[in-house]
This record gives sequence, C-alpha cells and structure tokens, in this order.
Amino acid sequence: MPNMSLKKNEMPHQLPDVRNKNFDEVALGYTEEQAIDEAKRCLNCKNKPCVGGCPVHIDIPSFIQKVAEGEFEEAYKIITQASSLPAVCGRVCPQETQCEQRCVRGIKGEPVAIGRLERYVADRHNALARKTAEKPESNGHKVAVIGSGPAGLACAGELAKNGYEVTVFEALHLAGGVLVYGIPEFRLPKAIVADEIQGLKALGVKIETNKVVGKTISIDELQGEYGYEAVFIASGAGLPKFMNIPGENLKGVYSANEFLTRINLMKAYKEGSTTPIQRAKRVAVVGGGNVAMDAARCAKRFGSEVYIVYRRGMEELPARREEVEHAKEEGIIFKTLSNPTAILGDENKNVCGMTCVKMELGEPDASGRRRPVEKPDSEFTLDVDCVIMALGTSPNPLIKSTTDGLDTQKWGGIIADEFGKTSREGVYAGGDAVTGAATVILAMGAGKTAAKAIDEYIMNK
Ligand code: FAD
Ligand code: SF4
Ligand code: SF4
Repeated sequence: MPNMSLKKNEMPHQLPDVRNKNFDEVALGYTEEQAIDEAKRCLNCKNKPCVGGCPVHIDIPSFIQKVAEGEFEEAYKIITQASSLPAVCGRVCPQETQCEQRCVRGIKGEPVAIGRLERYVADRHNALARKTAEKPESNGHKVAVIGSGPAGLACAGELAKNGYEVTVFEALHLAGGVLVYGIPEFRLPKAIVADEIQGLKALGVKIETNKVVGKTISIDELQGEYGYEAVFIASGAGLPKFMNIPGENLKGVYSANEFLTRINLMKAYKEGSTTPIQRAKRVAVVGGGNVAMDAARCAKRFGSEVYIVYRRGMEELPARREEVEHAKEEGIIFKTLSNPTAILGDENKNVCGMTCVKMELGEPDASGRRRPVEKPDSEFTLDVDCVIMALGTSPNPLIKSTTDGLDTQKWGGIIADEFGKTSREGVYAGGDAVTGAATVILAMGAGKTAAKAIDEYIMNK
C-alpha cells in the first residue's frame, strides 16, 4: 500500500539555537524506518517524470522501490549507475528545482523526498557495506584532468572505470574543489568528500595536488612531453567579483571565497585553529545567493551578529529556500532592498561601517527580475567591522592566457560544445569553467559527458 501522506517525512535537524554555535552537520539524516516510510510515498509512475528533472538521469522510481523493499544495496547500485557522488548530491542538489519539482506527488502536497532518500542510501552503503573498488585493467591510454571539483572527479572516475590512466592536476593542496573549500562542514561534512575521493583513487585515479596548470605545468606540456592524449579542463569559476565601491581594500573586507576557504580548507572552523580569520562583532554579507547564505551562517557560528545586504526583496533572493529558512532560524538579519555605496575605515584602515541606500523594485530587467532602483535621500549606515562580498564568481583567466587556440567567452567561460569539445584539438572542458557558477550535479553531468566524448576521440584516433 502506498503511503498517501501529503507531507514528506521530516528530516531530523539540530535545533537552530544549538547549531548556530557549532559546525556539525545541520541535517541528521533519515532513520531506516523513516526512509522506508518515505519511499512508500512514491507511486512508481510508468512515465517517470522525476527522472527528466535529474541532470544525470538516475532511475529514481527503481531505486526508491528498492528502498521501500529494504533492498538498500540494490538501491545503491541503481543510483551509482548514473551518479558517482550520491552522498554529496543527496545533500547539496537543489532538488526542489530538479527531480522533486517534477514529482507528481508535488501536485497535491509535497513531492517525494528524493534527495533525502538518495542521501540515506549512500550513507548506509558507505557506513556498512563499502567495498574497495578494484582498479580495472589499463587500456594504455593517458588522460589529464585539470581541477578536482565534481566535474573533474566525475570525468576521472568514468575514464578510470574504462581502463584509462587518469591524472588529476589540482592547484590547491586538497582535492574536491568547491566541495572542500566552499560548501561548509555543516552542510557537507568533509569526511564524505574524502570518502568519495578515496573510491576514485581505488579505481586508479592519480591526484597531483599543488599543481597549478598555467604556472607549474602547461597544457602544451601535458599534450606534448607528458604524453596525455586528451585533456579535460574542469578548473571551475573561482575568481570573485567585487562592487568597485570605495573601501573595498580595507582590512576586514573579504570575498566570500576567501572567507569560506579560510574556514573550510584551512580549517578555521576547528577549535584551536591558528588560521588567521576575523571573528568580527558585526558582519555584513553582500549578496543573496547560496554562497552569501553559507558565508553568513559561518560568520554566525563565530559568534558575530550577521546582516545579509541584498538589493532586491526577500522574494527575489536567488538562494535555495531551505538555505534562507535555515539562515533566518539561526538568527541572520536580512537587510533587503538595500545596496552598499561605500565601506568606511578607521585610522588603522580597519572596517568601521558600511553606507547603503534603500532600493525599490522597478520594471523587469533582461534577467526577467524587477530592476532595483535607488530611493532618493535614503542613505543609512550599518555599524559593522567586517564585510564579505558574495556577488558571484567567474573563471580564472590563467588557463586561457597560457593556452594557444582555446576560445573563451567575453566573460571568461571556455567555449565547448554539448560534448565538452573545445576549439583546441584533444582538449575538452566542462563544469563551472564553461557555464559559469552553476551546480554540483550539472558539473558532474558535464564531466561524465566529456568522459564519453574523450573515450570516442581516443578510440577513433
Ligand atoms: P570547482 O568545484 O570549482 O572545482 C574546480 C577545481 O579546479 C578547484 O579545486 C580549483 O582549485 C581547481 N583549479 C582551478 N584552476 C586550476 C588550475 N589552473 N590548475 C589546476 N587546478 C585548478 N552547488 C550545488 O549544487 N549545491 C549547493 O548547495 C552549492 N553550494 C555552493 C556553495 C558555495 C560556497 C559555492 C562557492 C558553490 C556552491 N555550489 C553549490 C556550486 C557548486 O559547488 C559548483 O557549481 C561546482 O562545484 C562546480 O564544479 P567544478 O568541478 O566545475 O568546479
Ligand atoms: Fe535529484 Fe540531484 Fe539526486 Fe538527480 S542527483 S535525483 S537531481 S538529488
Ligand atoms: Fe515516484 Fe514522484 Fe517519480 Fe512518480 S514522479 S515515480 S511519485 S518520485
């Protein structure tokens, strides 16, 4: 009998007043009983509309049926036919705009909690039944991957499964891309990412950290003397944007990327850490996306009073609803319809305030969202001693500027076709480096697609 409850099984959470003081994971995961009960809400629809909403086309009804039957390892096998990072995607995918948006149970009530079920299956597998993958026999062909975020890892994993000798070159000292340096521990514990990377290493993927392609080694060298038959560029979009207002070079102004990197990758969140980072009294985070929510919630956990300053209204916030709700519950103060005009400094060049103007919404702009227009005589000052700019990012121009024959967009994105092929022979690209800042699952999908194209390219050479 299907479970016809209109509501999803609630996800157990740490309470807001407890979690806003620690970096432990906020969502605690379903129990076996909750997972089976939730799986029984699925109607096993013949036309599988939910699958069309998943960028990597996981056979959602089939894996959910296995959960309902208590066949968790079978469910895991079905998921991993399509996804190489299920414990990650089950946590951070924007399910509400992807698979769950298409779920028929969402027409009258809440959709099936597909992401939570995916997380349950992956965590259970990792905790109880993880077998070390075996390295497939080598086919003698070498591929280089630049960047170890979800796009690079997915591409490397797919190629390694087919016997390729894959080396990933990563600029930072730890593999994982945004999964380790950007998304905070309380949303995605780093041990989970490390576990997934261990699985890839067991397949034979080599990861060389502290290798900045374009500085330490060039694409010419990779394709020439190092003998890589193809290169996949998955270098992400890590270059932060600023507003170009007065005061952005004062002490106490961070890009969200720097602030989050210091906390996550450089472990400032751990007690007793010596990583330099400001634990400010009052922090303004400028921006309204997921990155702004992550930076604000991290600052809150350091004991700061935190404002989100955003030029449109609450309705227009681009961050996931769930993240906005969590931020509100944790005590973040939203200063919407407000736009910074200058950051103020004291005699030691430390931040001592930020001036803003009030905005109102006018006609829709090119993005379809109503354009914010400044209200006359509305200036006010926020009393803050730290400002974090979370205004978006773009691809770093380093690889483009050191590689001949690689076409890019004006804004820096590498131009690649739907299979990841770029303008340079044997060079493929995918993930945020091509699309600009997007999502984990889209980056992973691009990595998988490019792996298939690289395989065909090398086999037909
Ligand atoms: P990245 O993850 O950026 O990885 C690129 C890697 O390439 C990095 O490790 C970088 O160091 C390396 N690199 C760069 N240049 C070079 C070079 N020259 N040589 C060698 N290595 C290089 N998406 C979601 O789906 N859900 C979320 O909840 C979510 N939250 C986010 C929160 C934050 C704070 C941020 C910043 C992003 C978030 N995203 C989220 C977006 C998502 O993380 C990215 O879309 C995704 O990680 C892109 O994957 P990628 O592999 O293309 O690039
Ligand atoms: Fe949904 Fe993401 Fe899982 Fe696909 S990978 S089924 S979009 S949660
Ligand atoms: Fe199950 Fe919803 Fe997919 Fe139908 S649309 S198969 S109910 S998850």
